[in-house]
Amino acid sequence: MTKITIAQLYPRDMNLYGDWGNTLVLARRAQWQGYDVELLSYDPGDELPGDIDILVGGGGQDSGQDRIKEDLVKVGPTLKAWAADGVPMLAICGLYQLFGHGFTTAKGQEIPGISLMDAHTVAGDTRLIGNITLNTEDFGAVVGYENHSGLTTLGSGARPFGTVKMGDGNNGKDSTEGGRVHHVIGTYLHGSLLPKNPTVADWLLARAAEHAGTTWEPEPLDDTWAERARAVAMSRPR
Ligand code: GLN
Repeated sequence: MTKITIAQLYPRDMNLYGDWGNTLVLARRAQWQGYDVELLSYDPGDELPGDIDILVGGGGQDSGQDRIKEDLVKVGPTLKAWAADGVPMLAICGLYQLFGHGFTTAKGQEIPGISLMDAHTVAGDTRLIGNITLNTEDFGAVVGYENHSGLTTLGSGARPFGTVKMGDGNNGKDSTEGGRVHHVIGTYLHGSLLPKNPTVADWLLARAAEHAGTTWEPEPLDDTWAERARAVAMSRPR
């Protein structure tokens, strides 16, 4: 049986609004398709696992970002090498910001990023909070919940994850949301993201299966509950 190894980055400090649910969805959908799954956690100071097939990271308060920043800079070159090697990654909110070049907080603190994604973030005066819906090229409509002070601007080396239909997204101005490079998705969408957006989960798993040396040939799954949750999410007011 092929094994998919999923690593969660900084679950202790970077794990808001149910972001851990993303990891659980990846694990369960892989198991439903007959894969063996190994779940790993990585917190500051741990030994970085040698060979993983998906990396998942959650959001965090500015204080959480401050706690992991030194460790992230240390492991950054390895994460960048993995990304260049095709390892799929999902980075939500606070880690999306730090996968970019850095985040200037509302207090003026500079939290360095690892420049895995060509994006830069500066805190605005108000928090951008609420339900959010995107149109995406590869995944159809994507739904979630955003809560961030950071305003992110993408550089030419990243393309957006989606276009905002309802909500603020990267900065409330240019209609972009999130960023993509290699097989890496960065996004502000909590919720958790993957339970309500199985197309995104399966895309990450397909890339992970390729990385593990197989082809993702999924049996159809009953996503009725996800469809219902999506419909409710899309009908909610901002
Ligand atoms: N602390 C960051 C901000 O406020 C990220 C927040 C989050 O991950 N939800 O922009």
